Amino acid sequence: MIKEEDLSGWYHELLEKADVVDSRYPVKGMLIYKGWGLSMIKRMQQYLEDMLDLNGHQPVLFPVLIPEDILGKETKHIAGFEEEVFWVTHAGGNELERKLSLRPTSETPIYEMFKLWIRSHSDLPFKVHQSCAVYRYETKHTRPLIRGREFLWNEGHSAHVDDDDVKSHMEKIKEIYLRLVNELLCIPFVVNNRPEWDRFPGAAETCAFDTIMPDGRTLQVATVHNLGQNFSRAFGLTFENEEGEHELAYTASYGPSFGRLLASVICIHGDDVGLILPPKIAPVQVVVIPIVFKESHREGILSYARDIEKKMRDNGFRVKVDDSDERPGAKYFYWEMKGVPLRVEVGPRDLKQGNITVVRRDTGEKKQIALDELDVESMFEEITLSIRERAEKRFRDGFHTIGNLDEIKEHAGNGIVRVGWCGNKDCANSIEEYVDILSVNGGKRLCVVCGSEGVEVLAAKTY
Ligand SMILES: [Zn+2]
Repeated sequence: MIKEEDLSGWYHELLEKADVVDSRYPVKGMLIYKGWGLSMIKRMQQYLEDMLDLNGHQPVLFPVLIPEDILGKETKHIAGFEEEVFWVTHAGGNELERKLSLRPTSETPIYEMFKLWIRSHSDLPFKVHQSCAVYRYETKHTRPLIRGREFLWNEGHSAHVDDDDVKSHMEKIKEIYLRLVNELLCIPFVVNNRPEWDRFPGAAETCAFDTIMPDGRTLQVATVHNLGQNFSRAFGLTFENEEGEHELAYTASYGPSFGRLLASVICIHGDDVGLILPPKIAPVQVVVIPIVFKESHREGILSYARDIEKKMRDNGFRVKVDDSDERPGAKYFYWEMKGVPLRVEVGPRDLKQGNITVVRRDTGEKKQIALDELDVESMFEEITLSIRERAEKRFRDGFHTIGNLDEIKEHAGNGIVRVGWCGNKDCANSIEEYVDILSVNGGKRLCVVCGSEGVEVLAAKTY
């Protein structure tokens, strides 16, 4: 498995070997999340949900079906999603009078209920979130975890008294996502303010978290949308203000894709041997390998390994003793492929001296220490830092400042380019022949196409 030569082949092979997902399910774009993969997704989900709850969100779980008339209430929204909606048209032998869609996202049913739940300004801000699967009939090439017809995410929805409150809430959500994406998963990103044509359908503003995959293309892992009063108007979502008048609420919606976050962890941190996992999400954080040369040592070494396991487990770590019949070399290889952050080897000499040998997955660094000196917590901190720093260095190296269209062509698919753009859609189209414009939030620069005054934009080939 050579990651540099064939990222896609490496990725598919690893998903299967490491038991992350099985993409052989006989519905295109839908897959089975397996033990190793789902366990990591659940950890991300828990970490995120805890932060959202602390921020004052209520967890909710809405039905997966949305009636056609509700989904269609906000016209730009339905226009944007129309082509991607799965419809339920029959139940048993009967054709349904009211078609039902599988939720592509849940703004519409949530606002339908917000309207019943929100009465006055004292109910605001009103914040809910749900972790669920959503359904989109993707016609582009599907890729496991990256682009599917069913995917797992957490979606947050909030209603506010005014635009200022929406904006300050969006900043808080960005901080929460920063902690999920960068602190927990060690994934570097840039937050981009999407151009008008690439906003969420119905949104006044879309901020996206983009990372760079090792093949130089960017992957959007989360978004935060300012929906203004667009949805409130369509749904009649009002509240009584302090003067007793009815006003339209301002709303926001936001969500990270757990699948895309997992795909980023796999592709950005992994190497030719396999996964490299940040300790906090690793399903197994430490694997203990007993090394038995002589049958007469077996019992002693195994019980030493069990003691170590118990001690670590008591300290809250996820640890496993691999006492299978495989040779030690095969065990090393297997657990390295699975990305377990730390390996502890115990042999006859270690047992006699009260030592252990620890090996880091991220650097391969190996050292013998006294069992008493083992400080797993601080080793995990070091590993997390080093994984993050390595990813951030490559991320910074992935930016290029570009002066003309030929250079854009040259750098397309090689990270993120900074170019000038005047704001004219024709010039954007010329740029987008090679790369997609990711953001419009830069400082002043001359347009790379027509030479007029403009702003610096970020652009890249995207997934
Ligand atoms: Zn121009």
